[in-house]
Amino acid sequence: MIFQDPYASLNPRMTVGAIIAEPVRVHRLRENDTAVRERVQEVMELVGLNPSFISRYPHEFSGGQRQRIGIARALAAEPSFIVCDEPVSALDVSIQAQIINLLEELQHRLGLTYLFIAHDLSVVKHISNRVAVMYLGRVIEIAESRQLYDDPRHPYTRALLSAVPIPDPQVEQHRRRIILEGDVPSPINPPSGCTFHPRCPIGSERCRSDVPSLRVRSDLHEVACWRSDESPVLMPMTVQEAARS
Ligand code: SF4
Repeated sequence: MIFQDPYASLNPRMTVGAIIAEPVRVHRLRENDTAVRERVQEVMELVGLNPSFISRYPHEFSGGQRQRIGIARALAAEPSFIVCDEPVSALDVSIQAQIINLLEELQHRLGLTYLFIAHDLSVVKHISNRVAVMYLGRVIEIAESRQLYDDPRHPYTRALLSAVPIPDPQVEQHRRRIILEGDVPSPINPPSGCTFHPRCPIGSERCRSDVPSLRVRSDLHEVACWRSDESPVLMPMTVQEAARS
């Protein structure tokens, strides 16, 4: 796992070497201390950290370097699947790009699969092959990344995408965001039926009582909405659609 906050996720009392070695030791992946140290230096190089920093402490590194330490720790146990929990949201934008490029490079080199959790839709679009959108703890739409961004079918996904700024002054001038009304309900006491119904601009009576499950619309595109076939007609265009039209 790669954690969100590179300041809170590294033990300040442990050296970088001890932090990265921990999963190797816990899973008994190397036979002796020398082999563990070699593995630590190997992954440090892999993530762009100087292996001679092995005895330094986390406070001696910048935010981006700390996140590299977190990535090295995740790689140390030789995984094939990594959960990346908002791995760039605590970093400056320029550092975000470096870390995303690093994650992509590692993915290609090591054949990794990522479950990438994020709120930044531009980052999600850039890095994902397949995207699942969640509302109140439930997946409400899943699709190939390109299909989801080109043809969002759930009203919540459409509202989310309408909030993404487009770097084109002409488009921004005529930008019409889909503003959702009301607050996000408590996940402890979610609304009946479709949990999005109190805020949905196209909700109907049925939505108040019946829970929509994920329905396959087309190849690899699933939506949990009773009216997913109609929504693009009834709802305002997303900014992306306005830019295309
Ligand atoms: S099921 Fe109904 S309330 Fe839920 S998103 Fe679809 S139209 Fe809106």
